Amino acid sequence: MVLAHPVRAGLLLLCLLLKAGCSQPVDQAQHRQFFALGTLVDLTIYGSDTATAGQAATELERLFTRLHSDWHAWQPGILQETNRRLATLETFPVNPDLIPLLSESNRLSRLSNGLFNPVIGELVALWGFHSDARPDSPPPGDDRILALVRQAPSVTDITLQDGQLQNRNPAVRYDLGGMAKGFAVDRGIELLQTHGIDNAILNAGGDLRAIGRHGDRPWRIGIRDPRGPGVLAAIELGADESVFTSGDYERFFDHGGTRYHHIIDPRNGYPANAVTSVTVIHSDATTADVAATALFVAGPELWETIARQLGIRYVMLVDNAGTIHMNPAMQQRVRFDTEPAAIHLSKPL
Ligand code: AMP
Ligand code: MG
Repeated sequence: MVLAHPVRAGLLLLCLLLKAGCSQPVDQAQHRQFFALGTLVDLTIYGSDTATAGQAATELERLFTRLHSDWHAWQPGILQETNRRLATLETFPVNPDLIPLLSESNRLSRLSNGLFNPVIGELVALWGFHSDARPDSPPPGDDRILALVRQAPSVTDITLQDGQLQNRNPAVRYDLGGMAKGFAVDRGIELLQTHGIDNAILNAGGDLRAIGRHGDRPWRIGIRDPRGPGVLAAIELGADESVFTSGDYERFFDHGGTRYHHIIDPRNGYPANAVTSVTVIHSDATTADVAATALFVAGPELWETIARQLGIRYVMLVDNAGTIHMNPAMQQRVRFDTEPAAIHLSKPL
């Protein structure tokens, strides 16, 4: 999780109270917060007039609320309907609103060697991570996990062409939890830009994309410490960059002294257990979101290979022992709050 440095300004409120002077660009951050996509969304806009900022924020909230219901794999909506039809193995026309999302998920899954696998919805549901409140129950039985892993659902089982979806594997079910936030953030930034907003951070539960600057300085953000309450490191952002973190602390349950979390290794069906968090910086939020999930599964052994295939240039991974793995370009950018005990520097990506 990434924490945006909060600069709270009551400017919108002030503007509402005074009912005047609201069309001037303001030299301060303006904020809007709302719940969508299962998380707190925090929008910060800098240097726009309050009327424009307010209008854009309202439209953004509406967009995110719609996307939330469209993309939910396990609640009524177009993705759930798509999953129902995929199970029939009949070719069918997919809802046009889903095509960009599905084709991007399929493309990126291939580039990650299937470690980001958006069609393991059955496995995610078996572990109980599909519902917002997981029931307090033990992990699923090994036999049920193995049965799904053997069916090996993969995006290579699917053809998406001319708006038609064809599926050859009955175990295929989309769960876009590993990239939906990124895709929504990209659409959100596009919306802000159509309103002429050039300086903003769109932060969805700690994962974000930033455009422009915070006045006379770059945007600065903090990366959460996966094993503590504070910030692990700070990063200054370029004019258009996304920072996404996948962590084992985001959704998990404990059973018999073991932590079971929500990022599943499609190769064995169990939560990937070699690392505690992975942070990726990339231009677009969709790729950053996918890459953080994929590199979490890849772990210390494989992350460099998968990062190269996905075209990622900045990665920081914290392994189980607390060792920081990163590439030299990332090391140039992070400022640690406390110097880490061990850093393992990779070759340049
Ligand atoms: P993130 O927090 O972006 O890493 O996404 C985690 C979410 O993605 C989980 O809650 C699941 O919905 C889904 N997921 C879990 N494992 C995978 C995986 N290997 N590939 C793609 N999506 C996954
Ligand atoms: Mg992700």
